[in-house]
Amino acid sequence: VNIMAENEMKSGAELLIDALQTNGLENMYGLVGIPVTDFARLAQLKGMKYFGFRREDAAVDAAAIAGYLTQKPGVALTVSAPGFLNGLTALAQATKNCFPLIMISGSSERHIIDLDQGDYEGLDQYNVAKPFCKKAYRVDRAEDMGLAVARAIRTAVSGRPGGVYLDLPADTIGQLVSPDAVQPAIYPLVDPDPAQLPSSNAITRAVDVIKGAKKPLLILGKGAAYAQAEKQLQALVQQTDLPFLPMSMAKGLIPDGEAHSAAAARSLALKEADVVILVGARLNWMLSHGAAPTFNADAKFVQLDICADEFDSNQPIAAPVQGDLISSLELILSGLQATNFKTDAAWLTELNIKKNANIEKMAKRVADAKVNDKLGYYGVLAPINEYFAAHPETYLVSEGANTLDIGRNMIDMKLPRHRLDTGTWGVMGIGLGYAIAAAVETGQPVVALEGDSAFGFDGMEMETICRYQLPVTVVVVNNGGIYNGTDRQVADQPGPTMLDAKAHYEKIAEAFGGDSYFVTTADEMERIFNQAMASGRPNLINVAIDPAMGKESGHIGNLNPKLALKK
Ligand code: ADP
Ligand code: MG
Repeated sequence: VNIMAENEMKSGAELLIDALQTNGLENMYGLVGIPVTDFARLAQLKGMKYFGFRREDAAVDAAAIAGYLTQKPGVALTVSAPGFLNGLTALAQATKNCFPLIMISGSSERHIIDLDQGDYEGLDQYNVAKPFCKKAYRVDRAEDMGLAVARAIRTAVSGRPGGVYLDLPADTIGQLVSPDAVQPAIYPLVDPDPAQLPSSNAITRAVDVIKGAKKPLLILGKGAAYAQAEKQLQALVQQTDLPFLPMSMAKGLIPDGEAHSAAAARSLALKEADVVILVGARLNWMLSHGAAPTFNADAKFVQLDICADEFDSNQPIAAPVQGDLISSLELILSGLQATNFKTDAAWLTELNIKKNANIEKMAKRVADAKVNDKLGYYGVLAPINEYFAAHPETYLVSEGANTLDIGRNMIDMKLPRHRLDTGTWGVMGIGLGYAIAAAVETGQPVVALEGDSAFGFDGMEMETICRYQLPVTVVVVNNGGIYNGTDRQVADQPGPTMLDAKAHYEKIAEAFGGDSYFVTTADEMERIFNQAMASGRPNLINVAIDPAMGKESGHIGNLNPKLALKK
């Protein structure tokens, strides 16, 4: 090779960055070390934004939620073996949640791994990753980088979205190739997520089932939020008067305050509905598997989903509609229009009576909480709800048991995809990673509403929030425990669920130059929360509530096996 040619040579790392940027992927969330440090440096030099985290799962969570918010795969970066394994939890989670993500991990040279010769952080990552993601790919030759990225993007976003693992052996990162040898050259994908139209039979069948309903109910899931189907859903409800129930991350697709929301009459709506129309929502544990007594045993199901093997996962589906939600909803809407279908007014009245009674009960609880001497969940959450009513563009991330459950009911969302939470696994430890990416991707302020236990999983990411000066306000609702802080079994040890109720979590922000607040009353909460939000700065508000507040496992205590506990 002459010197000219050598200067033009490109490394595998550079080709990977070119391919990501050519496809509009400009942000990367990661944690560097051997063998990907220079790769991240080069990404910054070439104009990508690289966000460095303190633990890989938080970085991969951030990339996953970036994918959910943008419909483009989020990009995450980890080092090999332990870094990869830390990230794997979040890769699996993103795949369960149907969030598009590409997790790139540096790895060892194949020959050392394949002969099990023992390498620094050596692990057969490519094969380990496979069961935890939609698909895994390994790039063994730098010249394949364009195709590798194309395959990763298309797999992540097309059909049911999910996580993709891209294994990047150290020798591919550094391998130099002449751009002429890169065949095909780096290129932008054409239509990475093609529309998938449902069959006309499926639409006719669904319209027929809905037409026959006396008590129809729409259930909106986070698949509908991901698909950005808000316009179609709003039109459907306007046109047909269908009452709707949003799953937690689907809140805001239609504003929570809208007249057709059945959220405040959830139990009645589920129990009584004779036709349930699932839009991007699975009949999994969160919907009691569609079974009685939560659901009417004779209910018929219409299910709209991109993924055909989701149908009949738990209940017989009378009208399966396979297709992308935008196309499916538009066709169902015009089908229903043609029949002049309207929801029975008596059903809406029945729901409204229940709804108004429950709304009154909630209002009384909130009013009581404001004057109660002991600060509890309602006293903490009321000012947050009021803030969101006035500032609907703000993003809310939430996790914890009681904090999550009570906040889901109390805090209304007006805009789609503005509530991000523990998702399909109901998992803790996603909060700060999601909050960081929400701030980065949208430029909007974010509230991360955390139980004290949930905050513990990724609290060190407060440093990340402060380092990038993100407008994230973390609220730790501290009752000193998992579920609550008073459950001691034996005298000489804290109980398994106990944490430190006197902890001053707010000092963590102070350590990194953020603003710290400690709150103990409902009045203070209102004043301090508004003050913190107005600053636009990284804030941590530690709210000490009564350690006796909080139910075991929040609203899902029924999932806990009960033992006869005695010595
Ligand atoms: P929730 O937890 O809110 O009930 P789930 O995650 O259980 O929602 O369900 C989301 C569903 O949406 C998944 O079954 C997924 O296949 C589906 N989905 C995701 N994106 C699309 C899309 N663009 N079109 C149709 N269905 C989609
Ligand atoms: Mg707690």
